[in-house]
Amino acid sequence: MPDHPDPALLEQLKDHLKYYAETGIDRFDPKAVSGALRLAASLRGERKSRSRPLRQSAPSTQTSLFAESVPASVRDSSLEEVRNDLGDCQRCKLCRDRTHIVFGAGHPQARLVFVGEGPGVEEDRQGLPFVGRAGQLLTRMIEAIQMRRDEVYICNVVKCRPPGNRTPQEDEVTACSPFLERQLAVLQPEVICCLGLTAAQTLLQVRTPIGRLRGKIHSFRGAQLVATYHPAYLLRNPPAKREVWEDLKRIRSLLSSS
Ligand code: SF4
Repeated sequence: MPDHPDPALLEQLKDHLKYYAETGIDRFDPKAVSGALRLAASLRGERKSRSRPLRQSAPSTQTSLFAESVPASVRDSSLEEVRNDLGDCQRCKLCRDRTHIVFGAGHPQARLVFVGEGPGVEEDRQGLPFVGRAGQLLTRMIEAIQMRRDEVYICNVVKCRPPGNRTPQEDEVTACSPFLERQLAVLQPEVICCLGLTAAQTLLQVRTPIGRLRGKIHSFRGAQLVATYHPAYLLRNPPAKREVWEDLKRIRSLLSSS
C-alpha cells in the first residue's frame, strides 16, 4: 500500500463500507477486502487509460453472439434507430395511461446492463428509468461494485407504466420485449443483471421463481446473465439485501475476469 492512499479510492471504500453497514454485514473476509481493493485500483487504472470508460478495445475472451450479429460501427446509432422504430408506440394497452415512454438510459457501450420490469410513477413523469426511491437504491448498488451509474445502461421489459405499478401482463410483455431484445443486441453487454422476476423470466424464457434463478450465472445470447431481486422489493424487504450483495459480488467478479 502507498504511504498516502488515493483519496478517491478511500471515498469508494467508504461507500462500500456504508453499503455493508446498511445490509447488516458486520464481519469482513480479509481476502475479500484485499480483492475489492485490487479491483478498485484496476478499475481506476482502466478508466484513466480509456477515452471511453467502459468497453475494452481488446477482444473479449467471451464468445458473443451479439458481437457476430451487430457491427461495431453501427452500435452507437442503432439505439437511436430502435427508439425511432418504437416511435409513439401503441402496440399494447399500456400506451393509454402513460405520460412518457421510458426507453432506457445510460452508456451506449456499457459492459453491464440492468433490466427492470417497467416504469413507475416517477419514471413515467420524467421519461427516465429508475429515478424514484428504487432508482436511488439501484444507484447505490451500482456504486457498491465500484461503478458509476453513467457507466451502465438501464432499461425495462415494458417501456410504459402499468397502471398502479402492477406486473406487466403477458400480452404487454410480448408486445414490448422485442424492443428490449434489440436494445441488448445493440448494446452487446458482457453482463446483464435482471432486476426481478419479470425481467429474468422474460429473457430466460422460463417460469422459474426468482429465488431459484438468482445465485447462478445464466447465459443470454453470449452475455452472462445474473438475476437478482428488484430494488423496489428490497425497499419492502431489507433483509434480502444480503442476497443481492452476493449477486453484486458475482457481477463484479464477472466484469473483472473478462
Ligand atoms: S409498453 Fe411497449 S409495446 Fe406497450 S405501448 Fe408501451 S412501448 Fe409500446
